[in-house]
Amino acid sequence: MPKAPQVEGLKLTPYWWESAPRPENAQADIPSTADVAIVGAGFAGLTAALTLARAGRGVVVFDAMRAGEGASSRNGGICSGNIKFSFSALIDKYGLGQAKAIVAEGVAARTALATMIEEENIGCGFQMVGRFDGANSRHDFDVMGRETDLLNKHLDLGTYMVTRDRQREELGSDFYQGGRVRPDIGGVHPAELHQGIYERALSAGVKVIDRTEVTGIARNLDGFTLETPRGSMAAGDCIVATNGYTDRVTAWLRRRVIPIPSQIIATCPLDPELMTRLMPKRRMVGDTRNLYNYYRPSPDGTRIVFGGRRGADTDDERRKCLHLYYNLVEIFPELEGVRLSHSWWGYTGYSFDMIPHLAVHDGIHYATAFCGSGVVWAPWLGRKAANMVLGKEEAAQTFFAQSPFQTRPLYNGKPWFLPAIIKWYALKDRFKYGRKH
Ligand SMILES: Cc1cc2nc3c(=O)[nH]c(=O)nc-3n(C[C@H](O)[C@H](O)[C@H](O)COP(=O)(O)OP(=O)(O)OC[C@H]3O[C@@H](n4cnc5c(N)ncnc54)[C@H](O)[C@@H]3O)c2cc1C
Repeated sequence: MPKAPQVEGLKLTPYWWESAPRPENAQADIPSTADVAIVGAGFAGLTAALTLARAGRGVVVFDAMRAGEGASSRNGGICSGNIKFSFSALIDKYGLGQAKAIVAEGVAARTALATMIEEENIGCGFQMVGRFDGANSRHDFDVMGRETDLLNKHLDLGTYMVTRDRQREELGSDFYQGGRVRPDIGGVHPAELHQGIYERALSAGVKVIDRTEVTGIARNLDGFTLETPRGSMAAGDCIVATNGYTDRVTAWLRRRVIPIPSQIIATCPLDPELMTRLMPKRRMVGDTRNLYNYYRPSPDGTRIVFGGRRGADTDDERRKCLHLYYNLVEIFPELEGVRLSHSWWGYTGYSFDMIPHLAVHDGIHYATAFCGSGVVWAPWLGRKAANMVLGKEEAAQTFFAQSPFQTRPLYNGKPWFLPAIIKWYALKDRFKYGRKH
């Protein structure tokens, strides 16, 4: 067992909030009417709001917490726009044409994010550094190789395999059995990205009412009435963008979104030479385990930000991150005993079919279920939800508006099955790859 990390002074808030703390506003009054009401001030809600305001609509966004305090300022900042299925699994599920369209939509969504960051001049450390996915076994490496060949046969993404003997060009570790590079994936400082979208939305005239939970949404002849503990508001249209933080207000959505917690640690700044050795190309990194880890250098290249499942063995917040530290040290033994600066967590939102959804139910528009890849998908589908409200044809041009948004019997928003699934995955990983902390 490696020695314990140094945790004196460990902060239980996101590292990202050091340079982009959540906005502290005087609680705004609630107007009596708006053209469009949006619930949720994360990437999806605010991108929708910005789009609508620029099209001349009066928009009010409500958030139960401070703006962006949900997943949008807590995530790893990896801009992948991936789907949880491999390309071959997508082909099996949807056929080759649809599979290609889904991956191509991910490329378009990533490009749209890059374009927005550039055009809106949002300083958020966005860099197209590429992503390295390490294979946790020789078998996984072979499977990855076949997937890469298939992907390259149908889509020109420039993906390539890296054998174990060349792995140190990608990552200062011998832990993996080689891996794959996706040069078209990048990274961003998520809280600075959120702050940029938030500020552009305010400048466009959006009213953001934070720390105000929407407690009821009623449909009537003219549109909707939204109830909050501080008063009600009428709106012609309503978009719900609450993803992993969805509560009982939208019972229909709650039966369809599975909130899954994810946790991240950040190390203290490391010696620059060590950082260059460990992450020579500053790639975003993932792996092939069921309970996988995702990690990256901070945008300023000084420390490692390392994420994975949320600890479940203890209620002590300061110990819930220890498994992540042990996983980090398994990959980079040089980091044994490293000082951790931050540990935090948040909810991702999954769907039962593991794809994002853009849906309309009972007149309410939903952009949601980004399945852990919302840095790219949430702005993309948030914008499309806005375009749906605006009646633009572009909105329908997405795979994610077409497939039915399923629920399961006995599911009401509380994922009682999650601990059993996580235990099962942990067992599978242990059996396949050996001990994992
Ligand atoms: C730890 C972690 C790591 C992640 N890493 C990555 C990554 O590296 N790459 C990636 O692409 N994605 C990642 N994700 C996922 C990504 O962050 C999310 O998919 C994305 O931020 C979702 O954005 P959103 O706007 O839909 O929802 P959120 O940002 O979660 O916002 C939803 C908001 O709705 C509000 N809300 C809920 N109910 C109500 C109500 N009744 N009234 C008012 N407000 C309400 C909440 O307060 C919340 O602020 C990660 C997520 C987490 C938690």
